[in-house]
Amino acid sequence: MNEKIWLSSPHLTGEEQKYVKEAFDTNWVAPLGPNVNGFEQEICNYTGAKSCSVLVSGTAAIHLGLILLNVKQDDEVICSTFTFSASVNPICYLKAIPVLVDSEKDTLNMCPEMLENAIKDRIKKGKKPKAIIIVHLYGMPSKMDEIIAISKKYEIPVLEDAAEAIGSTYKGIQMGTMTEIGIYSFNGNKIITTSGGGALVSNSEKITKKTTFLATQARDNAPHYQHSEIGYNYRMSNIVAGIGRGQLEVLDDRVKARRANYEFYKKELSTVKQITFTNEPEGFYSNRWLTTILLDSYETREKIRLALEKVNIEARPLWKPMHLQPIFKNYPSYTNGVSEDLFDNGLCLPSGSNLSNNDLERVCDSIKNCFN
Ligand SMILES: *Cc1c(COP(=O)(O)O)cnc(C)c1O
Repeated sequence: MNEKIWLSSPHLTGEEQKYVKEAFDTNWVAPLGPNVNGFEQEICNYTGAKSCSVLVSGTAAIHLGLILLNVKQDDEVICSTFTFSASVNPICYLKAIPVLVDSEKDTLNMCPEMLENAIKDRIKKGKKPKAIIIVHLYGMPSKMDEIIAISKKYEIPVLEDAAEAIGSTYKGIQMGTMTEIGIYSFNGNKIITTSGGGALVSNSEKITKKTTFLATQARDNAPHYQHSEIGYNYRMSNIVAGIGRGQLEVLDDRVKARRANYEFYKKELSTVKQITFTNEPEGFYSNRWLTTILLDSYETREKIRLALEKVNIEARPLWKPMHLQPIFKNYPSYTNGVSEDLFDNGLCLPSGSNLSNNDLERVCDSIKNCFN
């Protein structure tokens, strides 16, 4: 059997252990300490965000982000339908209502025109949405100028779900830092990982301070335990933050490697006319977390996916849109067929920063063989 080629596996340097060892040696084995503070500062330095709160997961960051945007029961929150369920679940944790909006074809992210139509229609139906969750899927930035203009026009704040997009930029600005709140994920399959973890960034220190307060059980300032608000146990541990510090040091290398994967696939597969790639529009810089290809039909997609599976190569269909998910299908949605087509015809190729040229060639050869 051929060795397994994974879609996106963790890629550690060994340097992470220096920070983790420090945590052990100094007994900072708690959800606070020098690595937690250091990681937050380093995320700010890297992204240009003013302040940061590190948390147990990207999902927790979205949950607290929505609370900070004052989302309450029965409020409506607009979210990209073409995403992973973790973008939408926190809306439901708050008993608020997801309103799902479809994508455009240039970036595969939320379509600004559909967004504005959805906002107008929700207002006409009697309720102005409380917040917008924009997802930069597979690392590709969304059309931020258009989206921010709509956010300003209707005075609705935007939470950037940059779980997959740390290191990506739009007109030179890091994703996650362009709106009221941004979130990152450091789950095991993301471009950098802490095994599991997340962060909330903002240009308002008030927001990140409140995030940290809520993430540590909302303790009032008193010698005893006193609480005036519902708290959460969402803070990142000092051990995990140590892994993050080591990983952040190599983020630029990881972006380079993943972008090189994309270029490799694009060049090698240029002769296969059934395949199209999603190029970056001018001013967009993707970390290419995952290389995605679009095929001419569902049948071709499945043919390739199954052929790869047979030779022990992991490839996956693109995200199944949220408005097609059994749990979300009854919520309001504004669709145009784009995300459904992406789901039918799209495939994520192995994209880890630790893939060898041999691995990439094996993937390309297996794909080309499908057409001989
Ligand atoms: C991974 C991911 C999340 C959730 O992050 P976790 O750290 O796994 O909780 C949210 N949104 C998107 C788009 C993701 O890919």
